[in-house]
Amino acid sequence: MSPVDVNANPLDLKPGIPQRLDSEVTRIVAPNAGVMTGAGTNTYLVGSRELAVVDPGPDDESHVQAIVSAGEGRIRWIACTHTHFDHSPAAARLKALTGAPIAAMRAPVTDHDLRLVPDRSLAPDDLIQCGGVTLRAVHTPGHASNHVCFLLSSNGMLFTGDHIMQGSTVVIWPPDGNMRAYLESLRRLLELDMRVLAPGHGYLIHSPHAEVERLIQHRLRREDKVRQAVLQAGEPATINMLLPRAYDDVPKVLHEMAALSLRAHLDKLVEDGELRCRGERYSGR
Ligand SMILES: [Zn+2]
Repeated sequence: MSPVDVNANPLDLKPGIPQRLDSEVTRIVAPNAGVMTGAGTNTYLVGSRELAVVDPGPDDESHVQAIVSAGEGRIRWIACTHTHFDHSPAAARLKALTGAPIAAMRAPVTDHDLRLVPDRSLAPDDLIQCGGVTLRAVHTPGHASNHVCFLLSSNGMLFTGDHIMQGSTVVIWPPDGNMRAYLESLRRLLELDMRVLAPGHGYLIHSPHAEVERLIQHRLRREDKVRQAVLQAGEPATINMLLPRAYDDVPKVLHEMAALSLRAHLDKLVEDGELRCRGERYSGR
């Protein structure tokens, strides 16, 4: 988990300025930079004659105005990768201004934008057709149970939301976040004909298959550290006891967030039958 330097905000991730990425994709960064959001949430306008907006972002009036103005009357769909508060709340305002319907998986019950009401409730592998381009919804639970990535078939660009970020590590936050599901979702991406990743935060990522492999290995290395921390603790250990050992390479300022992912790793190891948990204390079997 690496901290993001929000002051080093390069020009092309400056909020509010449409950045053309290729003939069918434009990115506008929302003005919500922070430790968790990097330079801000990326909103993508996808298509040419007609446009789908992927991740409208936080409900910020200036951001929605920037999207509408870049859309020049062509916005036909609003698609959300998931319903965390930095990704979907602008959907309602954008729909009111453009009339475009909202496509998303329904919000689960906790820590989500429950006000989002999809006009189209997405199922795995659903297609969104928009003026000659097609977005395929690839269900990728893990960061959030209702997370989908969108694959733009014409150029192999995969919009990854918070499943894969650039410049920071994705937090897996149980119980809606699930490490086992996250790893399975990463492995599923390896089967896709994808050529570039367009993350919800940060720059485009090239060599997508190598990046996905790197992320899987990163998680498995962390899982190994977590396993070792439990086995070497000498007694059934709490999250707070395990944190300094399992995340000794992560700055203390990030430990509160790391504790969430640590719980997700521990839950997975218990599910896998490697560890046991009794009253918030973890031990070997
Ligand atoms: Zn999220």
